[in-house]
Amino acid sequence: MRTSIRFLILAIIGLLLIGCAFIYIYRPIYSVTLNGEFLGYSENKAALQAKINDYIENGQGDNVAFVQIDELPQYEMCLLKNNIVANDDEIFEKVISEGTPYYEYYTVTLNGEEKASFATYDDAQKVISDLKEKESNNIDKLGVVKKYELALADFSDTAQVVEDLYEAKPVVIKSTTSSYSYSAYTKTVNNTGNVVQLGMALLEPTNGVITSRFGYRRTSFHTGLDIANSTGTAIKAAASGTVTFSGTTTSGYGKYIVINHGNGIETYYAHCSQLYVTAGQNVSAGETIAAMGSTGNSTGSHLHFEVRVQGSCQNPQNYVF
Ligand SMILES: [Zn+2]
Repeated sequence: MRTSIRFLILAIIGLLLIGCAFIYIYRPIYSVTLNGEFLGYSENKAALQAKINDYIENGQGDNVAFVQIDELPQYEMCLLKNNIVANDDEIFEKVISEGTPYYEYYTVTLNGEEKASFATYDDAQKVISDLKEKESNNIDKLGVVKKYELALADFSDTAQVVEDLYEAKPVVIKSTTSSYSYSAYTKTVNNTGNVVQLGMALLEPTNGVITSRFGYRRTSFHTGLDIANSTGTAIKAAASGTVTFSGTTTSGYGKYIVINHGNGIETYYAHCSQLYVTAGQNVSAGETIAAMGSTGNSTGSHLHFEVRVQGSCQNPQNYVF
C-alpha cells in the first residue's frame, strides 16, 4: 500500500515535470491564413481581429470612410515551440494591403452636375450659404452631395467656388406699363421711379458738369443725362460691349454712338464732334470711343448720355453720377 502511494506521488511529480517542460518549450498560438495563404502566427487573436475590424469600419488617413476587405483571415489554434515569434503587426499590414479604401468627401452640385469638391460637409455648405447671402440667381439649383469614391478628389477653395458659381439676377423691368412715350422721338421712358437692376456696373462716360438731368421738361421729357465740357473732351464706353451704331443723324442726336452690352442693355452717346469706333466693333469699359461736341440739336458742347433697357430709357443717375 505504501509503495503504491509513493509510486503515485512519483508519477504525479513526473507528469508535472513533463508538463512544465512542455509548457517551457511549447505554447498555444494561432496560425493565421488569408485566402489559404499562410500569413504567420498571432499571439493575441482577439486584439488582432479587433484592430482589423476597426480598420474596416474607420480606415486610416484623411477622408477614408471605410475599407472593403473581401476575405477575413482564418485562425487555427496550434502548439508551437516557444522560440517561434508571433508577427501580429505583419499580419495586420498584410490583411489591410488587400483592402480597398473608400474615400468620403462632399461635392457642390449645380443642376445635379458636380462643380467642386470639399473635404468636409461644412466647407461645401459654406459655398451654398455664401451664395444665398449674395442672392445668387441659381440658389435653388445648388446642392451638396456626399461621395464615396475609390480616389480622393482635388479639393477646391471655397471663396473661388463662390465667385465661379455666382450668377447675377437677370434684368427685371418692374413696371413698363406706366412708362411714358414721347411721341416726337417715339422713345419709351421709365418714369415710374422704379430702378431697373442692370446686373452690371457702368462707368462715368466723361468728365464735366451736369447741365440737364433725366425727367420732364416743361413740354417734353429729357431721356438722358447731359454732361458739359469743352469740345474734344474724351467720351468713354460706360461698359464693355459691341458698337451697334456709329454715325450721323439729321435729327436731334447729331453724331452719336450706340453700344449694346447684352441682356437688352444699351448706352447712347450723342452730339459728338468725332467718332473713333465703327459699328460691329467690340469695345471695353473705359475705352475712348468719341470726342465731345455740339452736333445735332445742341446749343453747346456736351454729351447726351442715355441708358436703355429693352428699349426703355432709364435715368442714368440710377447708375452713374
Ligand atoms: Zn440731352
